[in-house]
Amino acid sequence: MRVIHGIPLAPWTTLNIGGPAASFAELRDAADFPDFVAHTAARADGRTPVCLGGGSNVLVGDAGCSVPVLRMATRGVRILGDRGDGRVLVRVEAGHPLWELVDTTVAEGLIGMEMLAGIPGTTGATPVQNVGAYGQEIADTLVEVTAWDWRAGREVVLDAAACGLGHRTSVFKGSRRWTLLSLLFALRRSPLSAPVGYRSVAEELDVAVGERVPAADAARAVLAVRRRKGMVLDFCDVDRRSVGSVFLSPEVTAAQIEGLRELDAPVNRFPDGSTRVSASWLIRRAGFGLNHPVAKGVRVSSLHYTLVADEGASAASFAEAVDTVLHEVRRRTGVTLTPEIDFIGD
Ligand SMILES: Cc1cc2nc3c(=O)[nH]c(=O)nc-3n(C[C@H](O)[C@H](O)[C@H](O)COP(=O)(O)OP(=O)(O)OC[C@H]3O[C@@H](n4cnc5c(N)ncnc54)[C@H](O)[C@@H]3O)c2cc1C
Repeated sequence: MRVIHGIPLAPWTTLNIGGPAASFAELRDAADFPDFVAHTAARADGRTPVCLGGGSNVLVGDAGCSVPVLRMATRGVRILGDRGDGRVLVRVEAGHPLWELVDTTVAEGLIGMEMLAGIPGTTGATPVQNVGAYGQEIADTLVEVTAWDWRAGREVVLDAAACGLGHRTSVFKGSRRWTLLSLLFALRRSPLSAPVGYRSVAEELDVAVGERVPAADAARAVLAVRRRKGMVLDFCDVDRRSVGSVFLSPEVTAAQIEGLRELDAPVNRFPDGSTRVSASWLIRRAGFGLNHPVAKGVRVSSLHYTLVADEGASAASFAEAVDTVLHEVRRRTGVTLTPEIDFIGD
């Protein structure tokens, strides 16, 4: 495993923002992980290292990162066989791209991830914020993770319950205690997808909400819907410097729900039982139109109500834009947004 010093982190993130890493290592072979542990013990001064996957949900500080950075680039999917309850166990290395895993499972006739098509990043990062879209989330299929516990100084296996998966959160969110090394999922064998739960996807498929279709068709329809909203990473796209939603759709109280429904706001119930209003609706409502400039080099996307970066953006200006949107949404709607992105660096 090669360690590089002073490498800029910006190119390793989809925002293309961020200063250098004091030390940067890329893990391609899981067998090299003990070398990284030894290297970290020598350099990190008791501080836990930062793990980076595809960099699609992080904002790295302009001053960079003084603790060691590990980029997870291990790959591999193993179909382990039937569990006896109609589900098939699948083990995945943490650096394996999620979109490739979705393609593989669909091609193998396994369902449970088809609606996650088009989400960038690595599989190892998916439990961190219990990645989800269009009615499916990682909590539906995750059985356990194998991780390095930096506090205990040993490898541990955490079952799904111990991962504390909630709406875009888990015990891993905001904590550097664990580095996820591999994941075990249980997927159902079926030629048909899960019921299509979203109107936009059903319309794309020309079926009614609740119908089931071939899983590959469902994945293609989700991709088409996401592409129209600029929610697929496309390197030719003007909105390509993106971290997706930036903000969580906030939970709202019964009193707020009534007022929001009168305004025709999209208010939905989520699998964890919470009721939430769409963050993008709140951003638009607060006066941020498409392409609206918010801070130096940071604007609202041309297709969707989220923040994207352009020439001249820095971590400071992106953070300023996040703050501006947060304050303006609170002032205009009374609802408080929470950033979904993770801040990395000094
Ligand atoms: C265009 C676009 C669309 C998106 N759409 C969605 C969506 O529909 N739904 C959704 O939930 N998210 C979405 N996202 C956000 C993002 O893709 C997901 O959060 C994804 O899981 C991040 O994966 P990553 O490998 O890029 O993680 P990174 O951005 O590299 O890291 C994210 C966090 O996870 C930690 N981490 C990464 N790997 C590990 C590991 N192996 N062990 C421990 N910690 C780790 C990092 O330290 C960091 O805190 C979108 C992003 C973009 C750019």
